Amino acid sequence: MAALNAHTSFSELIGQAKRVVVKAGSSLLSAAKDGALRQSWMGSLAEDLAQMRHGGADVLMVSSGAVALGRRALKLSGGALALEQKQAAAAVGQPMLAGAWKEAFAPTGLVTAQALLTLEDTEQRRRWLNSRATLEALLALGAVPIINENDTVATDEIRYGDNDRLAARVAQMSGADVLILLSDIDGLWSCDPNRHADAQPVPFVADMDGAIMDMAEGPNPDSQMGTGGMITKLLAARMAVRHGCAVVLASGVCANPIAALHQGARHTLFAPAKTVTDARKTWIAGTIKPAGQVHIDKGAVQALGKGASLLPAGMTGCNGAFERGDVLAILDENSREVGRGLASYNADEAARICGLRSEDIADTLGYSARAAMIHRDDLVLLLTEGERS
Ligand code: GLU
Repeated sequence: MAALNAHTSFSELIGQAKRVVVKAGSSLLSAAKDGALRQSWMGSLAEDLAQMRHGGADVLMVSSGAVALGRRALKLSGGALALEQKQAAAAVGQPMLAGAWKEAFAPTGLVTAQALLTLEDTEQRRRWLNSRATLEALLALGAVPIINENDTVATDEIRYGDNDRLAARVAQMSGADVLILLSDIDGLWSCDPNRHADAQPVPFVADMDGAIMDMAEGPNPDSQMGTGGMITKLLAARMAVRHGCAVVLASGVCANPIAALHQGARHTLFAPAKTVTDARKTWIAGTIKPAGQVHIDKGAVQALGKGASLLPAGMTGCNGAFERGDVLAILDENSREVGRGLASYNADEAARICGLRSEDIADTLGYSARAAMIHRDDLVLLLTEGERS
């Protein structure tokens, strides 16, 4: 995709896209006043997406709304739901949602496919590759995958929790070049426009440094619909831009929201990162829940910055019940996450070799083993040089 800048229009962006993931939040799918499905709005989005397909781009949808629809059907009261209620609501709401999308796309002649993902489908490499193959097959057959988290079997420990990051993972998995996050928010603002009268819209974000992340305030406490707030949208955007995918954050409230963007509706465009790390490393960086943490000293932070592997000598501790090959978060002395990487040792071994020089590892473990706790080929740095020092 040609370089994007502050003047790139939405139409120019989509004109270049080969594959687009569109995420629709719960607040768009069900009406605020009574939680009823917004079937005609869904039809209008389906029209827009069919248009995009005619323009030559593959389209995948990530649709929220299962829990919101199910809670209405089950007459569950307002307020937070207990985990089992959420699972039950999703079990009722998800088939309603899939049926409604099928109906919404019917006039366009496009066939829809339901794909429900659990966290392991994107966090375990083998399952990631399997899920990716399924999505590829669906696209090759001309179907529109409609994806959601499998909320009926997800528990709090093993869930994405919000569909923004699920959508970013799907964009990465499918090699999409554009991710469009539609919600009731019309883009990023310098601060929350509902709380600050002087908030300014931010139309273009060239790179996602710390200052941008600071613009997000917590999720809207009044929303009982979705779970994402601006912070999850920015985390999702950061995951996507890092693997070379442009992100559009826009309001989807009106009918034909994509057509509205073509006509100039306000949105924020996040440009893809200039240096894109390889696919395996971006998969590591995009892990939603690392299996454990390894704490490292200052010297190790510097060594990693120069491209070295993480050696046990630089480790000051580790947590979590991780296995070899699991993704670990690497934390500095201030508990800031400097990077992520694949563990060469399991949690028990790691605890025993923590702080040891490489030549002493075999003596301690009783078998000869790898020199590095995380090999540099399996390691991604998440902070810039300035942020690390
Ligand atoms: N997966 C949830 C649902 O379909 C929505 C999660 C979210 O709102 O981000 O109800």
